Amino acid sequence: MNVLDSEKMAGILESRGFLSSSGDDADIFIFNTCSVREKAEEKLFSYLGRLKKKKKNRKFLIGVCGCVAQVEGERIFKRAPYVDFVLGTRRFFKIGDVVRYLIENYGEKILDVEMDGSPYPPEIKEIKRNEKFREYVLIMEGCNNFCSYCIVPFTRGRERSRKLENVLGEVKRYIKDGAVEINLLGQNVNSYRDPDGYDFVDLLSEVSKIEGLKRIRFTTSHPKDFNEELLSVMVANKNICKHIHLPPQSGSNKILKLMNRKYTREEYLEKIDMIKSTGIEFGISGDFIVGFPTESREDYEKTLSLLEEVKYSSIFSFKYSPRPNTLAWRKFQDMDEKIKLERLMNLQDFQKKIQLELNKSKVGKVYEVLVESISKKGDTLMGRTEQNYIVNFSGDRDLIGNIVKVKITDFSAQTLKGELFSM
Ligand code: SAH
Ligand code: SF4
Repeated sequence: MNVLDSEKMAGILESRGFLSSSGDDADIFIFNTCSVREKAEEKLFSYLGRLKKKKKNRKFLIGVCGCVAQVEGERIFKRAPYVDFVLGTRRFFKIGDVVRYLIENYGEKILDVEMDGSPYPPEIKEIKRNEKFREYVLIMEGCNNFCSYCIVPFTRGRERSRKLENVLGEVKRYIKDGAVEINLLGQNVNSYRDPDGYDFVDLLSEVSKIEGLKRIRFTTSHPKDFNEELLSVMVANKNICKHIHLPPQSGSNKILKLMNRKYTREEYLEKIDMIKSTGIEFGISGDFIVGFPTESREDYEKTLSLLEEVKYSSIFSFKYSPRPNTLAWRKFQDMDEKIKLERLMNLQDFQKKIQLELNKSKVGKVYEVLVESISKKGDTLMGRTEQNYIVNFSGDRDLIGNIVKVKITDFSAQTLKGELFSM
């Protein structure tokens, strides 16, 4: 979602005649920030520090937007007085006016972190994307769940959804422009509500009916809200990718309760069983936090056994990071850093073995792959199956943006390797 916000800011500025780039010689530096973990926040201040010296020799603007801007507000000017503007998560669409004003009134400062009262996210059409085959579409924003560790409800505010017709209109425009894959985005897609009463399942079925749309993905679905109705829409529609990101965070009921996740390990596993019992190959991924306050060795081992039981095709795992104002931050002492790190490393090793096993079983299979880019090493193409498995294979770069068939020939823990398959 942050990437999409950045693309909107770049789009708005370009529509007003500015050029966006990532060069060091820019006249305006804009930081779109994340504050979900402390490390992301610290990065901002180290970047800002580097710009400070430069500002002595030349005139340029520095703006801080996004989640850190939202929660830190005025304090950013105190810590970094050379910053010119601070715009919150619900105000970034004003970037064009703000920049124009500050160019004309260099030296003044602007702070706007209002969480405005509008019941809808702003409709922004100016979005700068470098690729046309894959598009990201915001359907709702904000979060009302208040998991005890999470800063998102404070940075993104309360939930609000776009109107169904606006979402459909945007998707249709992208398809007309050649998009193959659409990613529907929201902190909690299941909480999507159109004012006329349409929910996420309605929206997903409407989007899947759009002619010419080959792939639909969505993120993130909260495990407490994932249900049979949503699963059956996914199964019934070929163009909805068979990948589900269902973050459990922990495998221990004691920790899940303290996290305020509103489901038990058993309820979570029932949903996983529901997915597996379709008999369709789904990619299942998840997020995990290790070292949540009071997590015992036994609690941690329950997370490992959950990994073993579910067999995720990929995971994101994090050390617990205390975030200001959250319930866990107010209530608990943070755990020893060494234990957190050891648990994280061990969990990642454990998962690596599971992924190796899973990936091994895919050798010989043929998958449809949407080709995304040249691989990091530069010698092969990189793409994804609908399950979100990453596949590397040799082929012409003209294939980028197309769906091709690839036969899997080899694997590592993170990726599959294959060759173009023709019947
Ligand atoms: N809305 C999504 C998550 C968004 S945040 C959901 O509920 O699934 C993305 C991930 O960051 C979370 O799933 C969680 O694993 C991680 N995360 C959030 N707050 C964190 C914290 N304080 N410390 C460590 N990881 C955190
Ligand atoms: Fe954070 Fe929980 Fe909301 Fe996800 S559901 S954004 S983890 S509070």
